[in-house]
Amino acid sequence: MNEIRLHNTLSGKVEPFVPQTPGEVKMYTCGPTVYDYAHIGNFRTFIFQDILRRFLKLRGFKMTHVMNLTDVDDRIIANAAAAKVSLRDYTEKYAQAFFDDCRTLSVQSPEQWIRATDHIPQMVQLIERLQKKSFTYDSEGSIYYRITKFSRYGKLSKIDLTGIQAGARVDNDRYEKESARDFALWKAPKPGEHFWETAIGAGRPGWHIECSAMAMAYLGETLDIHTGGIDLAFPHHENEIAQSEAATGKPFSRYWLHAEHLLVEGEKMSKSLGNFYTLRDLFAKGHKPSSLRFALASVPYRRQLNFTFDGLQQAASSVERLRTFADRLKQGKFPAGSNSTIAERIAKAANDFDAGLSDDLNTAVALAALFDFVREANIAMDKGEFKQGEVAATQDFFTNFDQVFAVIQDDDTAKLKTLGFGSSALELGDAEVEELVVERDTAKKKRDFATADRIRKELADRGIILEDSRDGSVRWKRK
Ligand code: AMP
Ligand code: ZN
Repeated sequence: MNEIRLHNTLSGKVEPFVPQTPGEVKMYTCGPTVYDYAHIGNFRTFIFQDILRRFLKLRGFKMTHVMNLTDVDDRIIANAAAAKVSLRDYTEKYAQAFFDDCRTLSVQSPEQWIRATDHIPQMVQLIERLQKKSFTYDSEGSIYYRITKFSRYGKLSKIDLTGIQAGARVDNDRYEKESARDFALWKAPKPGEHFWETAIGAGRPGWHIECSAMAMAYLGETLDIHTGGIDLAFPHHENEIAQSEAATGKPFSRYWLHAEHLLVEGEKMSKSLGNFYTLRDLFAKGHKPSSLRFALASVPYRRQLNFTFDGLQQAASSVERLRTFADRLKQGKFPAGSNSTIAERIAKAANDFDAGLSDDLNTAVALAALFDFVREANIAMDKGEFKQGEVAATQDFFTNFDQVFAVIQDDDTAKLKTLGFGSSALELGDAEVEELVVERDTAKKKRDFATADRIRKELADRGIILEDSRDGSVRWKRK
């Protein structure tokens, strides 16, 4: 097995991963802000975190993974106030949609799902600790963090603090590096907005204190890994470090991992550009959950991911290739005995796969190891060189692969149905049906029955019934 190495934003280096307690990982993930449906950019980051979690589990670590739902922040407060509903009423719909989306994309549940609004007392206690140590000051009913008091401020995002005016403040939860200022820990209530009555006064928490308080409440004062998208490094994670370390005097997290952003066809995703997609937008266009998961997982997390519809199609065929191979392995009758060359080839592929993921989760290298192997194994099967003795080891390799990538099980149709997408979302045009019928025919002629069966099933899932006639021609009709 290969040494696991991860890029730590704190050091700017790829480092060997060594948790505090051998065999156990305490990991905190900043969850979604549930003010709207999550978009595919959000899921680029959530899938990276899922791949990390699944890989660590595969390597035998016991995970204690905590993920929060940010169900109070500027955007939620504003939207709930505008809609004249309570925070819970406003966020519940998006929280449930997020859980559905995670299930659909096979994003595993962390050990703990927690909500910010269930942890106001822990946030108040943390602010009180900071008050006692004079890291805070009050202004107009709000409580601010004095960043000049924390000498290590900026160590994560490496911001330049020269020229920062002492006492200049920022009230927004999200702001740019250029506006690094004292930030709000606790915000005074505004008319019409939700607030809590607490020992530190009436008001509501700033976004940053939420994650510091929740992470430490569940995982202790020092975590092993803290993750998020790159936009969270500043100010959110920088402020989490300032709050937590000022209160405890201990390192808050030993490894900080950040995913680069997703772009769409080379551009920043935005509603105004018309290139903004939620999962549901893509499912409504007939794309499958497994294609999206594969497309998002296949680009290593520290590389910018350029999402394209061509790429999504390619992801769909990659998944098909893997499913077909898995079926061939399951159904195939191979000659008895074993072939040492192939046995060695499987061991090498399994090692290359592990080496790719161990190297800062290089999913591209890991997948290349798998696909090279599948190509060679298919050729060996065609030639009758792949023997029965190699089936179990190949299946083990595939099982390990799928514990991390989770795309082999053919459950797309069922998942889409659960989300309310009926067969119409998956409906094929006549030309597409004809194309698949020809593909199936070619596969049958090559005696590749696994592929032929897969195509028949895919067509059936999408409402097309095939009738093979005696003269070898094929007719099809819609259900
Ligand atoms: P939010 O709901 O805005 O707090 O974001 C949830 C997660 O998605 C965070 O980890 C963000 O860093 C991440 N995120 C937001 N936009 C993108 C994007 N375009 N690409 C990748 N990750 C993103
Ligand atoms: Zn957070």
